[in-house]
Amino acid sequence: MYEGVVQDLIDELGRLPGVGPKSAQRIAFHLLQADPADVRRLAEVLIEVKDKVKFCSVCFNVAEDDQCRICRDPRRDPSVLCVVEEYKDVVAIERTREFRGRYHVLGGAISPIDGIGPEQLHIRELLTRLGDGTVTEVILATDPNLEGEATATYLTRMLGPLGLRVTRLASGLPVGGDLEYADEVTLGRAFVGRQTAT
Ligand SMILES: [Zn+2]
Repeated sequence: MYEGVVQDLIDELGRLPGVGPKSAQRIAFHLLQADPADVRRLAEVLIEVKDKVKFCSVCFNVAEDDQCRICRDPRRDPSVLCVVEEYKDVVAIERTREFRGRYHVLGGAISPIDGIGPEQLHIRELLTRLGDGTVTEVILATDPNLEGEATATYLTRMLGPLGLRVTRLASGLPVGGDLEYADEVTLGRAFVGRQTAT
């Protein structure tokens, strides 16, 4: 245990995803020795990102305005909707350049262990969005792991009665992994080869 504010810093860093106690300590000591100007810049960008970045009122992607860049782009096909778990998946799919439709960001995946059910995700908003008949195909692009599969299965059941084409990404993605870690070629291929969900 360290003195006051140093321990506070270690505690706060330790609450970040993927940062264990050892890493938290290492980062804290790095910051203590770093140039004050560098640390100030980091602190400022942390505050700025929380002030400036909002979530798109349509798709829940990260946005600097009421609507995100993709929802505002008239060249994007409004009839195809790609459902992803997180904002970072949008980034990964955009990198493939295989998709010209729009997105819906769920804000996570169904995970009973973590207490996340369908009502914690933006599923209600998805159903509302599909209500006007503009969207004719929904691509379920959840992560190829247990939670992602459970979410896709749930959504397939929910969307079934709506009479849309519901597709899943083709296999070939590394099972158990995160969509964002798939390389562009593999993810691009999974998009092109997508199949009707059952
Ligand atoms: Zn949007």
